[in-house]
This record gives sequence, structure tokens and C-alpha cells, in this order.
Amino acid sequence: MTDPLVRLRHDLHRHPDLSGNEGPTARRITAFLHECGPARIVDGLGGHGVAAIFEGPEDGLTVMFRAELDALPIQERGDIFHRSGREGVAHLCGHDGHMAILAGLARNLADDPPRAGRVILLFQPAEETGEGARAVLANPRFTPLRPDWAFALHNMPGLALGHLAVAAGPAACASVGLRLRLNGREAHAAQPETGQSPAPVLQQLLAWVQQFQPGQDGRLATLCHLNMGQPAFGIAPAQAELWITLRTITDPALDAFERELRGLTETLARQYRLDVRISRHDHFNASINDPAAAAIVARAAAKLDMPPGDFTLPMRASEDFGAFSATARTALFFLGAGLDVPSLHNPDYDFPDALIAPAVRLFRTILDECQQV
Ligand SMILES: [Zn+2]
Ligand SMILES: [Zn+2]
Repeated sequence: MTDPLVRLRHDLHRHPDLSGNEGPTARRITAFLHECGPARIVDGLGGHGVAAIFEGPEDGLTVMFRAELDALPIQERGDIFHRSGREGVAHLCGHDGHMAILAGLARNLADDPPRAGRVILLFQPAEETGEGARAVLANPRFTPLRPDWAFALHNMPGLALGHLAVAAGPAACASVGLRLRLNGREAHAAQPETGQSPAPVLQQLLAWVQQFQPGQDGRLATLCHLNMGQPAFGIAPAQAELWITLRTITDPALDAFERELRGLTETLARQYRLDVRISRHDHFNASINDPAAAAIVARAAAKLDMPPGDFTLPMRASEDFGAFSATARTALFFLGAGLDVPSLHNPDYDFPDALIAPAVRLFRTILDECQQV
């Protein structure tokens, strides 16, 4: 194997890091970037984030491309040559491939620098927890780098290899996880009326979740974890815990959906005299594509004869890239990883190396298109 980008991808795959702990991966990337001679490298962005800045000879707009540094806390099952060397941690979302593509763009810019303006290649931490993009944006070191345009791709199983899906408007859903902890009073199972059991509240919360199944009105509620009492027939329990993930197409819709579930939980808890504690986890903004940014991606793909793919947008899963639309005209788009491959986050998933070279060409063409707008 001779392609250095494929070698880099396999090397990153062998050495995965979890969200927030991407130091070793960031160091590998930084070493590669140094060889490409950017004007500057900024590190420590929102944790272990790294940005390489390439500058053109003339003033102009700033265009950012983003890849993600983190892997997942899932044991890899596939028996591939470049298998993860870390127990219980693996690149099963293809972020290793996204990094190799951005590294390829860095090499391309070293050979053929931008004609004007700046190009930022951002290797962002903690995408899988939904925290990384917001942490980068909140970091004062990122303020002088804020882009005018920002682009990211995600590889997508179920979409034909190398086919592209992009559209103006919603690209990936907003989501949030709510952990609901209920606490009442334990009783003997023979006298449940003397205690305060969370069971009736659980029943009603489960019925509420059941109303929001796929294909309804864009709101999706998923019960992810449930626990009540102890495994003992003699006890009417006091405690229960539910983890529910809420998903919507827009951020305001998610706020309203979350208020509805919190309101219902608090009302039921009062009615059944239970204490309730609610905490919020894994919040992702919706990714909404700017029409002009999406049009640039579509034009670049057409120039390269990349076929448009058959894929329903928005993607139901979330992507924290949407946070950058607060500061730039953004587009998140999807590149097919093949029809007959395991899904993202599956223990057998491995990013297809065949996507690296066409994706580098696509990013470069997007950059050239931005400079003509
Ligand atoms: Zn993922
Ligand atoms: Zn991902």
C-alpha cells in the first residue's frame, strides 16, 4: 500500500481516541499538517481541536472545512488488517476517513495554494457527544479564525459508493437526551397503597413516548434505558429511572418538545407525590444548510460528475456541525459509503478508502467555487 492518505487513515483507525481525549490523534494530525507547510497551526481548540490555516496572496473570504477527531466507545468486531488496537474503542463512524480527506486537502493546498483569502482545516474534538463544535466556537483562540463559509461531509452507508446527497435546509436532526429520576417511598408488595411507587408515572411516560414514533410529524421520542426497583417480588419500589432521546428537525421544535416532556414529568410526579430530577445530556443542534452553500456543493459535485444519491434528508441522526451556522454559511453533505455495508456505529463498520481521493477533489472544487461567488 503506497497512498499516504490511506496509510494515515489506517494509522488513525488503529489508534482511536474517545471524545474529549483526542490528544494522541491530534498529535498525529499535527505532525502530518506540519509537512504541508500551512501559514499557521492553532491547537487546543475546544479541547484537543487543531486548525491549519492556509493563506492566499490576496485578501478574500475565509472558507472552513471540518473533520472530527473522535472515535466511539464500542468494541470493533471486524477482522480487518488495521483493526483498532484499543479495547472497547473504535472508529466506527468513519471520522478516520474524514480526517484523511482533510489531510489530503492540506497536501493539495501545499501544492496549489488558494488564490485569495484563507482556508481553515478544522480537526474538531468531541463530535460524538455533541459538545465539540460549541466548545470550539466558545474558544477565544477560534474567534480570529471565524469563517464566512463552512463545509463538512459525512460518509453514509446505504447511499451508493461515491454518490452525493446535499440539499438546502435541514441536513441533520436536532436531538437531546433527558435522564428522568423518580423517587417515592418503598412499601411491602402486599400493601403497595402505603408507599409511593413510580410505576403509574412510568406507565404514562411510556405511553407518551409511544406517540412519537418515526414518520409522524418530525418529532421522534426513543426510550433508551429504563430501570425500576429491585428484582424482588416482595417490594413495591420507590425508585425509577428513564433515559429518553428526543429528536426534531429544528432547534425551536426541540426546545418545545423538551418543555413538553419536562412539564408532563413534573405534573405526574406531583400527582403521585414523587421527587423528580431531570438532567440533560448529548445535546446536538440541528444542521440546517444555507441555500447558497448547498448550491456551491451541488455545483462542485456536478463539475466532477459525482452522481446525486438517493437519500432522504434530513438525516435522522444528529451532527454537531450545525453549531457553526451561527457564524458562517454552512453546508453538511453526505457521501455514499456503499449500499451493502454495515451502518454507522455498527461494530463491523469501516470507512471505505475509495472515498478519500474523490472527496479531496470535491473539497478543493468547493473551495474554488467559493472564491468565484
Ligand atoms: Zn457518529
Ligand atoms: Zn460521525
